[in-house]
Amino acid sequence: MSKRVFIIGGNGAGLSAASQIKRLKPKWEAIVLEKGPFISYASCGIPYYISGLVPEFQNLLHISPESAIKDRNIDLRLHHQVTAVNPEGKLLEVRVGDKTITEPFDTLLIATGAAPTTAGIKIKPSKRVFVLRGLKDAADLMDFIKREKPRSCAVIGGGYIAVEMLEAFQMRGLNTHLLHRREDLANTFEKELSDLIKKEMVKEGIILNLSTEVQALEEQKGKVNVITNKGELDFDFVLIAVGVSPNTSFIENSGILTGLKGSISVNKTLLTNYPYIYAAGDCAETTNIITGKPAYTPLALKANKEGYFAGINICGGNMEFPGIMETAITKFFNLGISRTGLSLKEAEKTFPKAIKYTFSSPSKAEYFPGMGPLHSIIIVNKEDGRILGAQLAGPVEAVKRIDVYASIIHNGMTLDEAFNLDLSYSPPYSPVFDPVLLAARIGKKYI
Ligand SMILES: Cc1cc2nc3c(=O)[nH]c(=O)nc-3n(C[C@H](O)[C@H](O)[C@H](O)COP(=O)(O)OP(=O)(O)OC[C@H]3O[C@@H](n4cnc5c(N)ncnc54)[C@H](O)[C@@H]3O)c2cc1C
Repeated sequence: MSKRVFIIGGNGAGLSAASQIKRLKPKWEAIVLEKGPFISYASCGIPYYISGLVPEFQNLLHISPESAIKDRNIDLRLHHQVTAVNPEGKLLEVRVGDKTITEPFDTLLIATGAAPTTAGIKIKPSKRVFVLRGLKDAADLMDFIKREKPRSCAVIGGGYIAVEMLEAFQMRGLNTHLLHRREDLANTFEKELSDLIKKEMVKEGIILNLSTEVQALEEQKGKVNVITNKGELDFDFVLIAVGVSPNTSFIENSGILTGLKGSISVNKTLLTNYPYIYAAGDCAETTNIITGKPAYTPLALKANKEGYFAGINICGGNMEFPGIMETAITKFFNLGISRTGLSLKEAEKTFPKAIKYTFSSPSKAEYFPGMGPLHSIIIVNKEDGRILGAQLAGPVEAVKRIDVYASIIHNGMTLDEAFNLDLSYSPPYSPVFDPVLLAARIGKKYI
């Protein structure tokens, strides 16, 4: 029997699901409703487009709307914004231009992502204040930079996107400030990692305004006047990068259950509390693999993987999404930064005997060109030697070995088990004892 599957949201999660549905059930209708003009775009590439490293806007588009329709047979409807869901009646309310229409569905996937928050900052509307989420935001920011030729800017925030955008603006030659309410960067980074990043920021010329809480932004005489707890500052433009919250306001009072930050509660097969409504990506809650507790982590792999699983499950599959460990990686100029698993603070809530140790070691053979110190921060459960978290900072390519830690932690391995791993060695890549093996060896001293 043919089914009418509606998918709300046409980026990573939504498009992955639609593609699976058309692959597995070519005769079913897979209708993607996307409120904007773009689908399947690389939000993660935006900082590199703004810096100039990625030269063309077009480079950020994975699949064109034409190709989704023609090659993948997806019924794609751009500029269609879903404004309400009626789960009992299996109906969607959709705004198209100035009209509101109703669409009946058999199965629904909500893949509406997340939107930037502004953390209670009072903002008077201004063309000099930006947030970044979709490609339209990137295009607006780039147009502004080209047109107005700004000389100074501030980034408000202390997480990955703030770090990446500081690099982008500094690369464009702007006088770039960081405004952050705490002394350390985002909580997701251990203090040691935060210190290393801040040091690199100062080295690259970023002006740090820490313990600086932004209260209000207002455009005045071609500048943004920023009012903070420490006084007022003026910039040519300001980017707010203080975090995101799930795009779920349109399901308020629908009966679909939500959890952390208003993200949609789903089981491992991505089903909501209705057996014909799924949710995937940045709008959906998940589980932390280590603690088993609910987690909200808006990252691209989770979104794409969940979309893939949801698409298969909608077609009758039974794929279970295992959850996340917040594995993430980025760079600031020549400093690579990565993390996985629990921070010490998070670990202590579930594992009272959790400890942290740090060490630095060569990233490759000491005599090999390009060798740099790799700083490792390891969280381990003293009770049984299980590794719970890892954070790395060092040469850009060296911190990708966070994926080895992610595998170790995913599999619940102890320091002894990690030390037994048969890892590769060659001078251009690592010392004989890779820093991961060293972490296991050193860690045994602490437990
Ligand atoms: C600047 C930047 C850099 C990033 N870098 C990284 C990175 O390096 N690594 C990483 O893992 N993650 C990164 N991310 C996060 C990553 O982009 C997201 O996790 C991912 O895009 C989530 O995909 P999604 O499909 O769940 O949601 P989204 O990409 O947000 O897509 C949701 C879509 O739904 C549409 N929509 C929303 N509401 C409605 C509605 N009511 N009706 C119809 N359509 C609707 C939106 O227009 C949007 O197109 C970055 C994000 C940004 C902004």
